[in-house]
Amino acid sequence: MGSLTIDNVKKSFGKVDVLKGIDLEVKDGEFVVFVGPSGCGKSTLLRIVAGLEDTTSGRVMIDGADVTVTPPANRGIAMVFQTYALYPHLTVRANMSLGLKQIGTPAQEIEKRVAAASAMLSLEPYLERRPAELSGGQRQRVAIGRAVVREPKLFLFDEPLSNLDAALRVNTRLEIAQLHRRLKATMIYVTHDQVEAMTLADKIVVLNAGRIEQVGAPMDLYNKPANEFVAGFIGSPK
Ligand code: ADP
Ligand code: MG
Repeated sequence: MGSLTIDNVKKSFGKVDVLKGIDLEVKDGEFVVFVGPSGCGKSTLLRIVAGLEDTTSGRVMIDGADVTVTPPANRGIAMVFQTYALYPHLTVRANMSLGLKQIGTPAQEIEKRVAAASAMLSLEPYLERRPAELSGGQRQRVAIGRAVVREPKLFLFDEPLSNLDAALRVNTRLEIAQLHRRLKATMIYVTHDQVEAMTLADKIVVLNAGRIEQVGAPMDLYNKPANEFVAGFIGSPK
């Protein structure tokens, strides 16, 4: 569970062609990183995978089913945003519980999952606090915890570390890697940071101006970049 097929996806906003035909296979349990410069279409592609945005043409299948035919709550997808998107008036516990409550998960089960996720993410001391009483790193861990409790088969991360300082970026990155090892879920992770891509990915997808330049394991891209753009972006020696 958690395999993904992106089939000739194109997306235009008005006259602007943002995605120009994206094809990609993601295997169950893979950690795939979309990397590329600002404005190349990474977030748009991720939102399309989440079913939050329509395609202009082409389609996205999750475990063989078109993503748009499944109601959002049943898609088995959880997304983590750069800006955390927490509810300021709710405690950490309530932020993590809300989505499960909305789909009718029994209270005992919610409590169990919140306890497990907070242990994994070292959030136990903060469960009764509100987001304003947390650091940026703690807020992002809450946002990740909120995704974890839903037990998705597919996690989508959109530049989750961009608002954190350098030390926290490293810590949070390691936590995400650890989460992937533990949960064995499929993860798609968007970044414009080469180091994040090289350290996290099983497979890197290099995007540029709405097209895929190359797909491969980090060291394959590093050693055999398909073109100058990939070499420049991944930092391969000339
Ligand atoms: P990235 O995440 O790689 O920085 P985006 O996917 O956010 O890039 O954006 C790709 C391009 O699509 C940009 O030129 C952006 O301005 C444009 N774009 C994104 N969303 C919209 C939208 N809702 N309406 C119009 N243009 C958009
Ligand atoms: Mg983006």
